[in-house]
Amino acid sequence: MSGQAKPSKVSASVDFARAGRQVGYLSAPHSRDGSGWGAARFPIAVFKNGTGPTLFLTGGNHGDEYEGQIALVKLIQGLDPQRIQGRVIVMPFLNFPAAVAGTRLSPIDGVNMNRAFPGDRDGTVTRMIADFIYRHILPLTDAVADLHSGGKSMYFSPFGAIHALDETAQMRRAEAALHAFDPPIALVLRELDAEGMLDSAVEGLGKVFVTTELGGGGTTSAATIAVAERGVRNLLIHFGLFEGKPQTRAGLGLPPMRRMTMPDDAYVVADDAGLLEMLVDIDGRVASGQPIAHIYRTDRPGDAPAVYRAGADGVLIGRAHLCRVEPGDFLAMVAREA
Ligand code: ZN
Repeated sequence: MSGQAKPSKVSASVDFARAGRQVGYLSAPHSRDGSGWGAARFPIAVFKNGTGPTLFLTGGNHGDEYEGQIALVKLIQGLDPQRIQGRVIVMPFLNFPAAVAGTRLSPIDGVNMNRAFPGDRDGTVTRMIADFIYRHILPLTDAVADLHSGGKSMYFSPFGAIHALDETAQMRRAEAALHAFDPPIALVLRELDAEGMLDSAVEGLGKVFVTTELGGGGTTSAATIAVAERGVRNLLIHFGLFEGKPQTRAGLGLPPMRRMTMPDDAYVVADDAGLLEMLVDIDGRVASGQPIAHIYRTDRPGDAPAVYRAGADGVLIGRAHLCRVEPGDFLAMVAREA
């Protein structure tokens, strides 16, 4: 990639080496009609004390996913740097312009931050920020937790996830971090499209990566925010950044974490346009071949609906949130108890 050796066009108002608490921003040049010499500012916080590992926590990678944004804003407001050993870097709104707009993609350049890695210093705003993160933040970190939800278009049974990795030791470390996060479901996730993700960028550098899908529909619940807040606190303790006892599901009287994997044919995708009727709700058990959804053609209401079936036995842990669907849309996702 040309230009990768050149310095980033993004500047940081925070000093990653300085002790204490800093709340500032990354600034990417963004000349536009209303601000000829303007910049786009992405909030960032750095907490550092003594020596120890560095944890990078991100929310709002997609702007319409809110548990991570809220939990990490609360962390920035509540974390006392004197009480940590090491460094915590927090970006609650990784794609800030998207978060402000309440959209998945950046309204500036239409780019999905989670398909922009490793970034491009000569690219648009989202790609410039991804390049800065890839070259200047990820090398500082030992582990990254990127908190997602379903956004406006999807809904998930709250789960935490890692990916299957060829490096066994790296996968074990990620698994230990995921179990420390202690989500309702701990899933080994297979992505539909992994290229350009922050996930793949971090894993490619040999570091620990944990992600979540905590709900969706463009909103939050008390329960899903609690999963995010408790998980982040447990991660800080897991990595030795923070003293204290992890808050476990058992200690809170919650059902134990369910370990799940993804079977082949886990994803169900629409071939038809129309109106989606889910036949099974989130967390419902399904058998391979069982009808799980109908799509009705609204232009031909007299026609029988297209029938969509589960491709595997398991539990329905994800679904489309919007009822209007098009060919190619994600409809549902099935996971299997490990
Ligand atoms: Zn997301």
